[in-house]
Amino acid sequence: MTTFHIVSIFPESFKSYFEIGILSRAIEEEKIKLELYNPRDFTADKHKKIDDAPYGGGPGMVMSIQPIYDCVKSIKKKLEFDGVSDDEIKTILFSAKGGEYNQKKASDFSGYKHLIFICGRYEGVDERVVDNIIDEELSIGKYVLSGGELPAMIVIDSVSRLLPGVLGNEESLETESHNGEGIDEMDYPVYTRPEVFNDWSVPKVLLEGNHAEIDKWRSQKQQENKK
Ligand code: SAH
Repeated sequence: MTTFHIVSIFPESFKSYFEIGILSRAIEEEKIKLELYNPRDFTADKHKKIDDAPYGGGPGMVMSIQPIYDCVKSIKKKLEFDGVSDDEIKTILFSAKGGEYNQKKASDFSGYKHLIFICGRYEGVDERVVDNIIDEELSIGKYVLSGGELPAMIVIDSVSRLLPGVLGNEESLETESHNGEGIDEMDYPVYTRPEVFNDWSVPKVLLEGNHAEIDKWRSQKQQENKK
C-alpha cells in the first residue's frame, strides 16, 4: 500500500475527488491511503496563525515554516516508529517554480511507500522549507494556481494508476498516453457506438475486424500524435 500524507490548510478540499471512481475503490481495497494534516493543528501561535507578512515587503502573506516543520516532523516520527526507513519516504512541496511534473516522475514516485505532499497557499511558503525540509519542489505546469491542493490531487491520481491492482484492467496501462519508451507516446484515438453520428463516421478500418490492420492503424495514429 502507498500512503499519501497531505499537509494542507484546506484538508476538506480533498474529500469529493477521492469519493469517486478508481481512487475511491483503491482506498477501499487498501491499495492507497490518504492521511490529511492541517498545519494549523501544529502552530505554536496562540491565535493559530500559520502565515505572516513577507520580510522585505511585498503583497500577500507567506506560510510560516514552524507549523510545516512540526507537522512534517510528526509524520516522519510516526513513520520511523512504524519501522519505515527514510528511503521509502519522499517529501514534496508544490510550487509554481519547481521542476515540472510528468509521467516519468509519476513512475518514479510510484516506487515510494510514503509520499508527503506540502500544499502552499497565499504567496507561497517560507523558502527555508525548500532548503531544509523537502526532497523536491514540484510544479504541475507553467501557470499559477491558488494552492497546492489541486496539484496534490493530480499527482496522487496519476501515481495511483501506476500501482499494482489499482486499474481494473492492467492492460490499459500499457497502451495509455505518455507510457512508451520515450515517455511521450500517446494513446490512439478511440470510438464507440453509434457508427455514424451527425454524418461523422468511425474510421472504417476499426469496423472490419482485421486485427493486423487495426494494430497498424493504431500505431500509425500514435506516431502522428507524438509530441
Ligand atoms: N507567488 C507564487 C505563487 C503562489 S500560489 C509564485 O508566483 O510562484 C500559492 C500556492 O499554490 C503555491 O505555494 C503552490 O503550493 C501552489 N501552486 C500554484 N501554482 C502551482 C503550480 N503550477 N504547480 C504546483 N503548485 C502550484
